[in-house]
Amino acid sequence: MGAALDGAGYSTRAVHAGDPPRDTGSPVVNPVVHSATFFNDPEGRGELLYSRYGNAPNSVALQRRIASLEGAEACLVTGSGMAAIACALLASLRAGDHVVAARALYGGTRALLDAELPRLGIRTSYADFSDEEWQQALEENTRVVLVETPSNPLLRVVDLQAVAEIAHGHGARLIVDATFATPLNLRPLEHGVDLVVHSATKYLGGHSDVTAGAVCGSAELVAEVAERARVWGPALDPNAAFLLERGVKTLALRMERHNRNGMEVADWCTRQPEISRVHYPGLPSHPDHELARALLDGFGGMLAIELAGEGDAATRFVRALRLVKLAPSLGGVESLASEPRFTSHAGLSAEERAASGMPDGFVRFSLGIEDAADIIADLRQALDALG
Ligand SMILES: *Cc1c(COP(=O)(O)O)cnc(C)c1O
Repeated sequence: MGAALDGAGYSTRAVHAGDPPRDTGSPVVNPVVHSATFFNDPEGRGELLYSRYGNAPNSVALQRRIASLEGAEACLVTGSGMAAIACALLASLRAGDHVVAARALYGGTRALLDAELPRLGIRTSYADFSDEEWQQALEENTRVVLVETPSNPLLRVVDLQAVAEIAHGHGARLIVDATFATPLNLRPLEHGVDLVVHSATKYLGGHSDVTAGAVCGSAELVAEVAERARVWGPALDPNAAFLLERGVKTLALRMERHNRNGMEVADWCTRQPEISRVHYPGLPSHPDHELARALLDGFGGMLAIELAGEGDAATRFVRALRLVKLAPSLGGVESLASEPRFTSHAGLSAEERAASGMPDGFVRFSLGIEDAADIIADLRQALDALG
């Protein structure tokens, strides 16, 4: 990162951080470098450049940029968010170790903890991090505490500082999946977190056109993660790195709009009689509102509602949506809706979902960057269709 960016704001860093020095005639945009390997000098000096190592030019520029936004010493980009999470965990755990994880976790992460890590002799206990209950889950051999904040789909916010202190007191690392927040709304490393991971497929990329991940932290910890990635092999392709870098350039602009749309649409939803409950950390009614105000620079574009008419109403409502499309992902410029009972939480019974705060009638939105008035008009006409 150039010295000229010391102290620069997030919008500036999103555009420039990590760029190599420019000479007259240099391309303004980092070109896609399609080379799997790079010449070294005869004495073997210099860094061996090889794309699987995560040090190909497109990845290096991107890693500096994301590290700058996170306030991290280092970043590793990977071929998916799952690869980022898997390598962060593999770097932090050995056979016989134990993980304490939040119950509200991305389904792929649940599968990693429940089906893959036990094959390596690593067990996980789940807990709810919105109270102190989780501390009872700590065991003598707990080496990782893993949470997502804000969580999916209830957007619960974790008191990172408090969790970090307890985890560290226990000799465990705190790893946080901050995909929903992005470094524009939350920088977990400022709150004592050891490693922050992202599905860059979501907001960092921002256009639903690239699958990628990122891990940020101290140079020492990221080097440990990179060592796992070198061998397990989830490198990011240079084309994907190019798309992700282009997405990151507009992250600050997009998050401003996602945050604004989130607040406006959430506020509107609280006034609609067909909607019985609104989950958005920017609303005073959200259980973590005060914590969210303290930790977050914006409340984000993720929003969930409960329809008074429950499952039947949700089915009719989502079918009537026109501008907002049904799709399971999030964080792109387009507004999307999904029903957890058919997507992320399809594996649970209706009773289990209700007990986890997602009764039938629950609809999750990833609000895009469209005009809030148009999103609201679409929700209104879909509510009207409930009759
Ligand atoms: C999507 C997602 C992931 C997985 O990321 P991929 O890029 O799909 O591998 C992990 N965590 C969260 C919170 C996600 O939303």
